Formats: sequence, structure tokens, C-alpha cells
Amino acid sequence: MAKIVIASGNRGKIKEFQELLNIDITPFYELLGNIEIEENGTTFAQNALIKAKEIYNKLGKEYIVISDDSGISINALSGKPGIYSARFAGDNASDKENLQKAVDELKKLNLNSSKAHYSAAIAIVSKYGEYIVHGWMYGEVISTPRGDKGFGYDPIFIPEGFDKTLGELDSNIKKDISHRSKALRLAVPIIDMLKRIKS
Ligand code: IMP
Repeated sequence: MAKIVIASGNRGKIKEFQELLNIDITPFYELLGNIEIEENGTTFAQNALIKAKEIYNKLGKEYIVISDDSGISINALSGKPGIYSARFAGDNASDKENLQKAVDELKKLNLNSSKAHYSAAIAIVSKYGEYIVHGWMYGEVISTPRGDKGFGYDPIFIPEGFDKTLGELDSNIKKDISHRSKALRLAVPIIDMLKRIKS
């Protein structure tokens, strides 16, 4: 049976994928060591596909490679940081620095809040072709971080229908409603199907 490989080195993401897919997933670095992949696409989907294809091309046809790309888009900042969420405050910026940059940008505009949404694209590449699914989580960002749960921009993000940030809400709530979970739920039947095909 095809081995499922994730084109990510992020332990948090690998755990999320493993839990939701309920299957064994091998991180790419266990098979290939560390590889720097340049994410030079212009959309979440392109960046997810770039990563999955590069790993698939190195591993070969007996593998199913999955990869994700995600970020936050803030309406008051014309959709920024979007695909640049991981490097909003500069290349190699920490989550904390990126969060602070978002807060600073809101404050520069004298705003306490703005509508925003998270996006996630998941790419699945195998010998049967390429698939991409998306998930979104809508809400608003505030200029005063609250709570220390989650990661990245979670302390300033209040999901629609809630009055607490993802930094304050229980992590099980985020699992239910997050952009990545929604995309992953769509990815599950595709991966199941690919695993079942007899070549
Ligand atoms: P990626 O690892 O290239 O997909 O970068 C995703 C970046 O988007 C992260 O570094 C975070 O800054 C941000 N991000 C994506 N998903 C989340 C989330 O669920 N919570 C907080 N920040 C997120």
C-alpha cells in the first residue's frame, strides 16, 4: 500500500494531520533529510502544491504526499499578510514578531479590530494526479492580544460566533472549526480513495 508522507517539518501540523486522518503519516525529513523548499507561488494552493510535488518527485510513485499552506488575511490591511503570514515581520521572523507586526499595523490605522479570515490549502500528490482542497475560518482580529493557547495569530483572532480569541478558547473548539480541519476533512476521502486504488 502507498506510504503517506507529509511535506512539513512542523510537529504541530503533523500531529493535527495524524489525528484527523487517523492513519500513519511519515514526515518527509525521515526519508529525505532536511530540504529547503522555496515557496514562490502566489496563492496558498500553489505553495501547497509546490511543496507536495517537490517531495513526491524525490520519493517516487509508491508515495502519496500531502502538504498544506495557510495564513491569515486581514481586511483592514487589504488582505495582508495572506500567503506571507509566516514572514510578515521579515524572513525568519518568529510567530511573536509576526503577531506584533499585525497589531502595530492595526494601531497605525487607529483600529481596535478588523474582519479577517484564515485560509488553508492542502495539496495531495500521487501517481494518480494532483488534488487541492481548501478550508476557511472567518472572524475578526483585535489589536490587543488575549490568551496564550494556539500559535501564530491566534491571540488576536476571534472566530465568528465567539467572543473569545483562539488564544483563550479550548483547543478542541479550534479543532472543530479551523481552516485546516475543514480542509483536512475534505482531504480524507481523497486520500482514502487513493489508498484503495489497486494498480
Ligand atoms: P505555513 O506553515 O507556511 O503554512 O505558514 C502558516 C503561517 O500562517 C504560520 O506561521 C502562522 O503565522 C499563520 N497561521 C496559519 N494557520 C494558523 C493558525 O491556525 N493559527 C495561527 N496562525 C496561523
